[in-house]
Amino acid sequence: MGDRLRVAVIGGGLGGLAAGLALLRNGLDVTVYEQAEALGEIGAGVTVYPNSLRLLERAGLGPALAAVGATLGEGSEYYRMDGSLVGSIVTRDSSGWNGFYGMHRADLLNALAGAIPSEVVRTGHRFLSCEQDEHGARIVFANGEVATADVVVGADGIHSALREFVTESSPPVYSGSRAYRGLVSRDDVPDWRPNAHQVWMGDGKHFMVYPVRRGELLNYVAFVPTEVSTIESWSAVGNRDELVQSFSGGDPRVTNLLGKVQNCYWWGLYDRAPLKTWTNGRLILVGDAAHAMLPHLGQGANQGIEDGFALAAFLKGSRPENAPALLESFTAFRRARTDLIQAEARRNGLRFDSKYKSLDERDQEIRKTAEFRRWAYDYDVEQAANDAKAQLAGAAV
Ligand SMILES: Cc1cc2nc3c(=O)[nH]c(=O)nc-3n(C[C@H](O)[C@H](O)[C@H](O)COP(=O)(O)OP(=O)(O)OC[C@H]3O[C@@H](n4cnc5c(N)ncnc54)[C@H](O)[C@@H]3O)c2cc1C
Repeated sequence: MGDRLRVAVIGGGLGGLAAGLALLRNGLDVTVYEQAEALGEIGAGVTVYPNSLRLLERAGLGPALAAVGATLGEGSEYYRMDGSLVGSIVTRDSSGWNGFYGMHRADLLNALAGAIPSEVVRTGHRFLSCEQDEHGARIVFANGEVATADVVVGADGIHSALREFVTESSPPVYSGSRAYRGLVSRDDVPDWRPNAHQVWMGDGKHFMVYPVRRGELLNYVAFVPTEVSTIESWSAVGNRDELVQSFSGGDPRVTNLLGKVQNCYWWGLYDRAPLKTWTNGRLILVGDAAHAMLPHLGQGANQGIEDGFALAAFLKGSRPENAPALLESFTAFRRARTDLIQAEARRNGLRFDSKYKSLDERDQEIRKTAEFRRWAYDYDVEQAANDAKAQLAGAAV
């Protein structure tokens, strides 16, 4: 058993690459295994908030992200579906920092991949199974290769294959709603507010738009109720006409933008109770594999990025034999936050879909969510993880 911890990360999505980057920065021996033949992401947007942007900037990605992100700020607002104003959307943390980007998912993935030496990422490696003992873990891939590691990180998403080696999965509960998602060229809607994150809240449905890729594209997501369950996969092509029909007669800004949509993808929205645990011996889950959440706070990927940086802080300088205990501590440390965010994402979905007797009451609550959002944005997970680890070390003396 060598001294330097060897970490295998399963999954080269946003969470897996962020974990790979953070672990490398902390001096660990890392390999990322991705099932696809090449790294890639779907054509859709993702919000990058201060709680993850401060970590990525610290890791040196500031210029790369600034070159492709679209800053979200002025004109960011909530509306009722008829277009009447409900309130503003927070686009600064408590220090006043406007660290908010709308990003094309592929741009974020490329920025992360660009910061990792290419030999660290092994594509064409679909994880099949693993076994572990006191000396390490042995991982088997579908291509017949076998790898060994001291720690195996499951960053393999909502349908995680590593999860079954860790704990029982929480069964997915269909939310009764599907999300349509796609991109529209900014040139097709020249009057659109350039830096605005906007949300329209209707009866059982909602619609949101924000710019990505330096503002050249507008990312829209439409949440629509349906009795027919829809699979959790972005490769499912959505019905464009049904999407447009769902919002007809609403705010002309929405109907006009939807009139420019040529094609879209859809994703069935499922909710899950928090898992019993994220860890088993040398195995640890992060990102959607650990805490898949409804997307109504835009925090899923941001929490995955936080996981990677926190995990790296916990594992830094550790000896292989200490890893299982550190993974337990990491799990307890992270769950305190992700359980709250998972629950608030669910509540926010009820607000966005107007599941209230009184819309005035809903509007008041939406304005108050600024407080929760600031709490989420102000957090520095690296600092908090270092403090928690120092406390653990103090307690062990
Ligand atoms: C409609 C919608 C909107 C959203 N908007 C936002 C947003 O604005 N902001 C935000 O922060 N989050 C958002 N999210 C959530 C976000 O998309 C996810 O939380 C995030 O993508 C999870 O990242 P991940 O790396 O954990 O998993 P994934 O992105 O699913 O990546 C998993 C990776 O693992 C690979 N993999 C899978 N199985 C294996 C295997 N057996 N072996 C090897 N590799 C494997 C996959 O190919 C993939 O590359 C949204 C989600 C939805 C549904």
